[in-house]
Amino acid sequence: MSTRRAGTSSKRDSQATGRVLALRFVRSLGFSVHDFEIAEQALRQGPDDDVLPSAVFWRVMQKSYEDARALDHWHTLTLIDAHRALLIKGEGGDFRAAREASSSHEIQEIMALGSVFSSRSVSAVKVVSGGCCPPCDALDDRCYSFSQALNELPIPRVCTASWCTCTWVAQDGD
Ligand SMILES: [Zn+2]
Repeated sequence: MSTRRAGTSSKRDSQATGRVLALRFVRSLGFSVHDFEIAEQALRQGPDDDVLPSAVFWRVMQKSYEDARALDHWHTLTLIDAHRALLIKGEGGDFRAAREASSSHEIQEIMALGSVFSSRSVSAVKVVSGGCCPPCDALDDRCYSFSQALNELPIPRVCTASWCTCTWVAQDGD
């Protein structure tokens, strides 16, 4: 993935907006403006070099992401993926892989919660579309086994909206 691109004025405007958003995301996920600036500086190759805010965000988050993956902290992975996808989308980039990763981590979080709360038997997941788009709405309330959901990842794959707003919820067993 490229971390920078040539700057025209409109690109610079959207990049400035993206930078503010990336800063906000970094802070909401427990890091400081200083952490962001250090990462930005590290990625910059010259004084006038533009660095994509999504790349800076990813650099700040990478260690947390790896730690979360090692510890199966699915919720953290879901959050980082979703925020990263939003930033890439704002830059006009291909955000599908990041958005799909957030959906798949969401499913794994539900699977993990099902085994933590033994009083509750979670057997599967279902789609809540909330009026996202017609293809997603057609899946509303549909149940998937965990492996089916992970393999097919119908949301966000079937989505025709610019940003899939669907979510997975636990389907209680018994
Ligand atoms: Zn949709």
